[in-house]
Amino acid sequence: MKRALINVDYTYDFVADDGKLTCGLPGQAIEAKIVEITKEFIKNNEYVAFGIDAHELDDPLHPETASFPEHNIVGTPGIELYGELRNLYEENKTNKNVFYFEKTRYSAFVGTNLELKLRERQIEEVYLVGVCTDICILHTAIDAYNKGFKIVIPKDAVASFDKGAHQWALEHFKKILGATII
Ligand code: ZN
Repeated sequence: MKRALINVDYTYDFVADDGKLTCGLPGQAIEAKIVEITKEFIKNNEYVAFGIDAHELDDPLHPETASFPEHNIVGTPGIELYGELRNLYEENKTNKNVFYFEKTRYSAFVGTNLELKLRERQIEEVYLVGVCTDICILHTAIDAYNKGFKIVIPKDAVASFDKGAHQWALEHFKKILGATII
């Protein structure tokens, strides 16, 4: 089965100590694992997508504005990939199997051409890594499920600021979305 990696929201604002909406230590703790998995996919010439939250400053009509402080504003350092993953992306961004795209909702499928890119390549299985387990990973996984993709979640490569919600989401992936947790 052809597979792809979807790297979700591993940015400065979501991971760094002084990020605007940070997962903090749990987010920083998965850096090496995300980098390892991303390197593996790139080395195997498999498809690697980076779906990155991108917001406009002062956007009162955006639904997240009511729930969260501003984050991942286009053109600010906060939207850059975090740590070693940023370097890895920079080294490989001209690779035809590497696809960076902005998203404006929790799910990487909403308002983006991710699904078209996956279908063009006959990809049937998606690996999801990044943050937050219970928000953007969850919403992306639900859309993947509804679109008929098989789902794999490397549990050491997803994280949340909310430990209980992280655990709940891992159970949900497995029991309700039929995901393989590795
Ligand atoms: Zn957002």
